Amino acid sequence: MLSKVMQDAINDQINNELHSSYSYLSMAVWCDHQQFKGSAHWMRLQSEEERIHAMRLVDFLLARNGRVFLKPIGQPEVEFESVVEVFDKALAQEQTVTQQIDGLYELAFQEKAFAALVELEWFITEQVEEEKTAREIVHKFHMVKDDPASLLDLDRELNGRAPEAAEGA
Ligand code: MG
Repeated sequence: MLSKVMQDAINDQINNELHSSYSYLSMAVWCDHQQFKGSAHWMRLQSEEERIHAMRLVDFLLARNGRVFLKPIGQPEVEFESVVEVFDKALAQEQTVTQQIDGLYELAFQEKAFAALVELEWFITEQVEEEKTAREIVHKFHMVKDDPASLLDLDRELNGRAPEAAEGA
């Protein structure tokens, strides 16, 4: 059985993942409106992934006979200066989530919540990948800057992202 403090912290992280999902959806619709269809596609899939992360924690709490208490999801940013800024913010968001997961892992360690430690290891590995992917895209956007032809090429490249296979998602 998970301690109350551990359950509260996991509930907070469920909210964080849902907020992350909501934020990516906001980025997706902004990109779509600006006709960056590939970037919009990428952001939509990212939003889906974050929802799956939240569900993973929901299922973990339920499996440990814990209580899931859903909270309001904060309003995401809705206006952006440029598609480059969107991806800058995506990277910053992933860095924030990494800190949240690290904090949760540290708490699980203190609480001797061993099953939670094992579950959270998956998230720690996932964050390494999330940050790496976002950093690579940010790097490309900064290289391209405002060159329209290259920007369209990059947007087209992002359209090639496929949904994660069920396990890694
Ligand atoms: Mg996540």
